[in-house]
Amino acid sequence: MTQNYQRIVLASRPHGTPTLDNFRLEELPLPELQDGEVLLKTLHLSLDPYMRGRMSEGPSYAAPVALGEVMVGGAISEVIASRHAEFAVGDRVLGYTGWQSHTISTGSGLTVLPATLAQPSWALGVLGMPGFTAYMGLLDIGQPKSGETVVVAAGTGAVGSLVGQIAKLKGCRVVGIAGGTTKCRYAVEELGFDACVDHHSSTLPAQLALACPDGIDVYFENVGGPVLQAVVPLLNTSARIPLCGLIAQYNSTELPAGPDFSPLLLRTLLTRRVTLKGFIIFDDYGHRYPEFAAQMGAWLQEGKIRYREDHVQGFASAPQAFIGLLEGKNFGKLVIDL
Ligand code: NDP
Repeated sequence: MTQNYQRIVLASRPHGTPTLDNFRLEELPLPELQDGEVLLKTLHLSLDPYMRGRMSEGPSYAAPVALGEVMVGGAISEVIASRHAEFAVGDRVLGYTGWQSHTISTGSGLTVLPATLAQPSWALGVLGMPGFTAYMGLLDIGQPKSGETVVVAAGTGAVGSLVGQIAKLKGCRVVGIAGGTTKCRYAVEELGFDACVDHHSSTLPAQLALACPDGIDVYFENVGGPVLQAVVPLLNTSARIPLCGLIAQYNSTELPAGPDFSPLLLRTLLTRRVTLKGFIIFDDYGHRYPEFAAQMGAWLQEGKIRYREDHVQGFASAPQAFIGLLEGKNFGKLVIDL
């Protein structure tokens, strides 16, 4: 009997904030498995901010998703049938299989997860792409030193929560910036940050200045916009900015209203000799993944890192959950459970 599977494709390109109409849920028959192929059943789908970029045309570091094509994304799957020598039924694998309930794969790009992994979804978060991003961006570009002040934007998210905790392990004073009092309380009480400031507050610049009495030595940039504007006046001489993401701008369709911020930004970078460096995690650091995995694995085992995941149930929930991610509705690494 033919088995059907579900997939979510890009139906149209968003103008500004994505809407549910930009996605289409389809049901199709699964092709028959051929020699050298495995059939995967998706268990956990990762939703990440970079997917917004793939929905738009225009130049970027990666090609856009074509209209009518399956949305891209990392996922944890279980092998449910195998005609491939390297994969057995029951194996759990990580792969960029996209927004679909089942995938037929030749095995290319799949990594079998160790059976010892406490929680398979960790391979999408703390031990996966977001964790790797936090680790390399902070340590290689941020170069935090004991006693310095590290500020991290989107501080309770998949990347930011780890940036702050790694900076604490390096002996820094850590100030998070997050949306709302619940997230800020979590950053201080659960993640161990020294302070956290709510970016929805109209007094963000003053509150950030109070939380950073010695200025800012490392600013881990995840959002841009008004948050960056609050940070820049506080940067110390020789500060470092790992430029990781600009989520506040991902849905923008025009330049921000008001005075042009770039002259102040550039003057600060010049006079305070600030290093600002963008990075794309696997393009720039792919070769250092084993170092990260060993260190993060050890920290987790020693109980030095806490990691919150936000699990949303049901494949059809993915578009709404993704739209929410761009508005701060997630609280921790966003994962869809199928
Ligand atoms: P998160 O889990 O942090 O989720 C996104 C968060 O961004 C939201 O929860 C929200 O948190 C915050 N946010 C959304 N809109 C705004 C806004 N307008 N102003 C301020 N904050 C906002 O996502 P990730 O940790 O996965 O990603 C964080 C950043 O890192 C993103 O910019 C992403 O693109 C980037 N990234 C870059 C990589 C690279 O290779 N360069 C790799 C991976 C991620 P809150 O409620 O606290 O505002």
